[in-house]
Amino acid sequence: MQTGHHASKRGSDLLNDPVLNKGTAFTEAERDALGLRGLLPPRIMTQDEQMLRILPAVRGKPTPLDQYIYLVGLHDRNVTLFYRLVMDHLEELMPVLYTPTVGQACQEFGRIFRRSRGLYVTADDAGRVRDVLANWPHDDVRMIVVTDGERILGLGDLGANGMGIPIGKLTLYTACAGVPPHQCLPITIDVGTDNTELRESHAYMGLRRPRLRGAAYDALLTEFVEAVQERFPGVCLQFEDFGNHNAFVLLEQWRDKVCCFNDDIQGTASVTLGGLLAAARLTGVPLHEMRLLFLGAGEAGIGIGDLVVQAMREAGIDEADARQRCWFVDSKGLVESSRTDLASHKQRYAHAHAPAESLLDAVQSIKPHALIGVSGTPQTFTPAVLQAMAAQHERPIIMALSNPTSKAECTAQQAYEGTDGRAIFASGSPFAPVTHKGRVHVPGQGNNAYIFPGVGLGVLVAQASRVTDEMFAAAARTLSGMVTADDLAMGRIYPSLSRIREVSRAIAIEVARIAFERGLAQVERPSDVAAAVAETMYEPVYHSLV
Ligand code: NAD
Repeated sequence: MQTGHHASKRGSDLLNDPVLNKGTAFTEAERDALGLRGLLPPRIMTQDEQMLRILPAVRGKPTPLDQYIYLVGLHDRNVTLFYRLVMDHLEELMPVLYTPTVGQACQEFGRIFRRSRGLYVTADDAGRVRDVLANWPHDDVRMIVVTDGERILGLGDLGANGMGIPIGKLTLYTACAGVPPHQCLPITIDVGTDNTELRESHAYMGLRRPRLRGAAYDALLTEFVEAVQERFPGVCLQFEDFGNHNAFVLLEQWRDKVCCFNDDIQGTASVTLGGLLAAARLTGVPLHEMRLLFLGAGEAGIGIGDLVVQAMREAGIDEADARQRCWFVDSKGLVESSRTDLASHKQRYAHAHAPAESLLDAVQSIKPHALIGVSGTPQTFTPAVLQAMAAQHERPIIMALSNPTSKAECTAQQAYEGTDGRAIFASGSPFAPVTHKGRVHVPGQGNNAYIFPGVGLGVLVAQASRVTDEMFAAAARTLSGMVTADDLAMGRIYPSLSRIREVSRAIAIEVARIAFERGLAQVERPSDVAAAVAETMYEPVYHSLV
C-alpha cells in the first residue's frame, strides 16, 4: 500500500502531516532517527493501545455532533488511527460520519469549522478552474465526489456548507471499500445559494449571492469536468446532491464521455434493485414479472425505474414491456399519458391509463407487487394504502426510502401492522426490529453505502473509462446474493451492515470484471481480479518510517 507521501519529513513537520503521523505510536528508533525525541509523551503505544484511549473519548462526547467534531479533529491529526477507529466501529460511527449527523454538521459548518479540507471551485473561478485544480497538492487522485450544495440530503440548499457531504462520502469509500484515502478528493462548486437566511448569517463562508443558473452555470460545470480530466486523467467523478434538474442534465451530458456517475440516481437505484431481487426470493415472483409503483418521480424514483428496466431486459423481456411494469405517482397524481405537465425524465413512464389522483386509487388499479416511497413526504403510505397492498398480494413489498426517519412514507411498525405482518419492509433510514403478533420482523436498510464504495473500488482497480448501468445492475445482484437464508427468514432483504466491507469487496470484483470484459478497463487484466481488488484495499496500519 502506498501512502502517496515520501518519508523525508522530520520532527514537527512529520507530526503535522496527518498521513504520516502516528502520534504516540512512533517507535524508539523512529523517534531517534526522525528528530522526534522529546516532541511526544514518553510512553510508546501500539495502535491497539491508542484505540483504547480514543474510543472512550469518542463515546464520552455528549452529542453526535460533538463526536463528529472529535472525529474530524482526529482525521486532521492522524488519518491512519482515524480509519482504524472508523473501520472497527463502522456500524456505530457511520451515522455520525454520514447521515443523519453529517446533515447537522453541514447546517452548522461555519460554527464547527476548524481546518479546510477538500477543494472549492467558485463561480468567480470561471476561466481559471484549471489553476484552482493545479493547487491540489496530490497528483494521484482517483476518486472525486463533487456537489454544488443545492439539495443536501433532505435539507435543501446549503450552498458551500455542502462540503460536509463529499467529505463524508469519501470517508465511506475508504472505510467500507478501502479506497486509499490519499486518492480521494472532495470538491464543492460554490455557485452561491438561494438560502437567504444562511447567506446572510455571520458564520457562512461561501459566496454571498444568489445561485448562478442557466448558461453561465452550465459553462462553469463544463469547464470543471474538462479541467478535472486534464488534471487527474481517468479519475472517477461522482456527482452528489445536485438539484433535481441539474443532476439529470449533468449525468446525461457526461455519462458516455467520462468516468462518472450520480449516486442519488444510480447508487440509490442499485441498492433498491438489490432489495427487490432479495424480496423476489421470498415472494417467488421474479423481478421481470413484478409491477412496481413509485411514490415520487425524482432522482431516486426515475433512477430506480431505469435500472429496474435494465435488469428486466437482462432477464429477457423487451424494453417497452419492462417500462410498462414501472408506474409512478408524483405530487400531481399518477404519471400517465394524458398529462401535459411531465418533465422529460418522467415521460418514458407515462403509460396509457385513466388519471388517478390519490396513491390509494393507483394502488387499487395497478395492483403493484412493490410500493416504493421516494417522495420525501412522510406518512403517505397510509393504513388504507397498506391494507390495499396486503389485499392484493400475500407478501407485499413495501419500501419507505425517504430520509431521514421523520420523512419515511411509513414506519416499520405501521408497515407490519397495516399488512397483518405480511409486508416485506425496507427503509432508507434504520428502524429497530418490530414484534407483531409474537413474531419478530427485522427491517432492512436500503443504504447506498452498500453500493457506491464497492463500485468505486472496482472502477479504480480496472481504471474503467465509464461507469455503466450494467455495473450497477451487477452490484445489485451481488448485494442480493449476500442476503442469507437467515436474513430472509427474519424478513430482511439486505445483509447486516456489519458485513459491508465484504459486500463492497464482492461488488468491486464484479464491477472490475465487467470493465475488463467490456473493454472499458485502461489497465491490463490481472490474472486474478479478486486478488487485485484485495491488494488495492487500504488497511489502516502504521508502516515503519526508518
Ligand atoms: P427529488 O426532489 O428529485 O424527487 C422527489 C419526487 O417526489 C418528485 O417527483 C416530487 O414530485 C415527488 N413528491 C413530493 N411529494 C410528493 C407527494 N406527496 N406525493 C407524491 N409525490 C411527491 O428527490 P430524490 O432525490 O428523488 O429523493 C426523494 C427521497 O428519496 C428523499 O427523501 C431521499 O431521502 C430519499 N432517498 C433515499 C435513498 C435511500 O434510502 N437509499 C437514496 C436516495 C434518496
